[in-house]
Amino acid sequence: MSRISNGVLTALILLLLPWSGQVFAEDPIRVVTTTPDLADIVRQVGGDRVSVISLTNGSEDLHNIRPRPRLLNAVFRADVLVQIGLDMEHAWLPQLLNAARNDRVRPGTPGFINCSAGIQPLDVPAATTRKEGPDLHLKGNPHYNLSPFRGRQIVANIVEGLSNKYPQYSEEFKKRGAEYLQQLDQKISEWKDRLAPFKGAGFIEYHPTWSYFAKDFNLQIVDRIEAKAGVTPHATRLAEVTEKARQNSVGLIIVRPVNQDLARKIAANCDAKIAILPHHSSVKGNLKGYIPFMEHIVSTFEKNLKVEQR
Ligand SMILES: [Zn+2]
Repeated sequence: MSRISNGVLTALILLLLPWSGQVFAEDPIRVVTTTPDLADIVRQVGGDRVSVISLTNGSEDLHNIRPRPRLLNAVFRADVLVQIGLDMEHAWLPQLLNAARNDRVRPGTPGFINCSAGIQPLDVPAATTRKEGPDLHLKGNPHYNLSPFRGRQIVANIVEGLSNKYPQYSEEFKKRGAEYLQQLDQKISEWKDRLAPFKGAGFIEYHPTWSYFAKDFNLQIVDRIEAKAGVTPHATRLAEVTEKARQNSVGLIIVRPVNQDLARKIAANCDAKIAILPHHSSVKGNLKGYIPFMEHIVSTFEKNLKVEQR
């Protein structure tokens, strides 16, 4: 049996890695994003100039990602890295960046795009106490991608970031960005109309997630099952939240797939439905793409919210 040298083995592994098929084509700009939403928007803005990989698939908890060799390899090879920021990726991205030692995407350089630039964070904690455990949102709520109004800022930051790094393609990025914003704005005005009848309607969330969406569409978060981001709720929360749901005739409780149990107990004791909504679009399937994902979010609210009694 012939022996395979380490060099040949490395070459074989490299061939199997993402992008390997495209290296000889047009040498696209290799962009790595932390979420599929960001990946979709980079594709919309970058077109054929970019080859994009999302480090997560959309169903994972961005607060808690395991840095794996596949992710390290992607960061190692990237020309540009795009993040949500506001500490969303705090538990794992700095570690990956350290290990990858890739100067092209070092924070503070044009290869590192922080999409939270210009976002006014909501839910900034007044006092940072760790008495009840760690707060995952120390810089404020990082789930701003869930409001399409804030999505506009993501598009603007990606256009600006890519243009800074590749001024030779700047006009192209600006043109594509403007076209995408036009599509997004059309949908935003449709979504506003569809949710307008529910102005002031309340819902309950598990994790502090939907603040931007609620604010921008005039909805009300009646209560949160997880009082502090990332802190497991006390058993007494069940009764408290159920009572609030009843008092406010809440029609909708929103959870992620992993947090269903407590929410189901609450829903069983009041007149609310459970909706399971991911926090990000998906890398494949129906929820691929930021606009289709937001469409799913809006229609879920539309189907389940109760019109305010006046
Ligand atoms: Zn969070």
